[in-house]
Amino acid sequence: MSIGISLYLENGDCASDLLRNADTAMYQSKAAGRNTYSFFTKEMNNIILRRLEVEAQLHGALERDELEVYYQPKIDIRSGCIVGAEALLRWHNNKIGNVPPDEFIPIAEHTGLIVNIGEYVIEKAIHFLFDWQNFQSTDYTIAINLSPRQFRGDGLVNFINASIGKLNIRPDQLEFEITEGLLISGKSYINTALNQLHELGVKLSMDDFGTGYSSLSYLREYAFDILKIDRSFVSGITSEKKDLDLVIATIAMAHGLGLLVVAEGVETREQLNLLDDLGCDIAQGYYFSKPVPAKEMITFQQTGHSRTQ
Ligand code: C2E
Ligand code: MG
Ligand code: MG
Repeated sequence: MSIGISLYLENGDCASDLLRNADTAMYQSKAAGRNTYSFFTKEMNNIILRRLEVEAQLHGALERDELEVYYQPKIDIRSGCIVGAEALLRWHNNKIGNVPPDEFIPIAEHTGLIVNIGEYVIEKAIHFLFDWQNFQSTDYTIAINLSPRQFRGDGLVNFINASIGKLNIRPDQLEFEITEGLLISGKSYINTALNQLHELGVKLSMDDFGTGYSSLSYLREYAFDILKIDRSFVSGITSEKKDLDLVIATIAMAHGLGLLVVAEGVETREQLNLLDDLGCDIAQGYYFSKPVPAKEMITFQQTGHSRTQ
């Protein structure tokens, strides 16, 4: 049971206000994992008002051309070469300014807007990949994040298939990043879509590993190619022995399963050198570059970051 409580006078002086606020508090109880109670607070109201505002502005953001896909380079640790990039969405709205993806993606997911937004990202990222490798005369990979809602129906797989077909891109140059949250629901259409993606020949990447259940059975059950160690572990490897031990164990396990290991959020040379010693394959983070607009990424050159240089 989830209970929301609002108090007469303090939270309203009529039945409708009290009920509305109790309802808001009940959602807080649900969000906290259910089976609990919450008292209504003004902060809850502010959170909900902000959410409504973001949602209102997000409708039409695509049509108003407010979204832009940025790219963050991924570097092969051994050679120091750029091997690809991750597509990361940015949103600027005239009324509410820049809204970070951590805030608007869950709302896009909840409202279903993510379906169209997600297709926009896939299309932009594939076009970018095409332009990038033409410009640099090198093969790269592009990693694209997917949300659970995008897996409903057979739209996603068909869309990806059609997009690859339009340009001369190999399916294995595309990596789709999902988090464990997608797999927890155990819905059969998700399994079907993941199998179809595997058959298409695109790569599957486990994002934010270490923050969720870090389930070994998911890694065994689904055809993952890549494992991304979450930034929260990478940031501690040079100072916290526990983080270091976990990263060592994760790399050994992932390699044992035949997965490529990407370290997220590499910010210092010390972290990079340590990851190199630990046998981590690929690094991504502010040490090399923040996510940048397509134009900057196309001409981005890796300068002197390799240990051997
Ligand atoms: P993510 O997929 O785990 O992406 C990595 C996040 O870490 C990005 O945040 C990136 O800018 C940030 N980051 C990378 N290197 C560093 C570093 O060295 N230090 C620090 N402090 N941060 C670093 P961003 O762009 O704000 O994205 C946040 C999350 O939003 C992403 O996490 C992803 O889950 C989601 N997201 C972004 N774009 C999309 C999208 O197109 N579709 C979907 N479904 N989700 C997206
Ligand atoms: Mg990601
Ligand atoms: Mg991540």
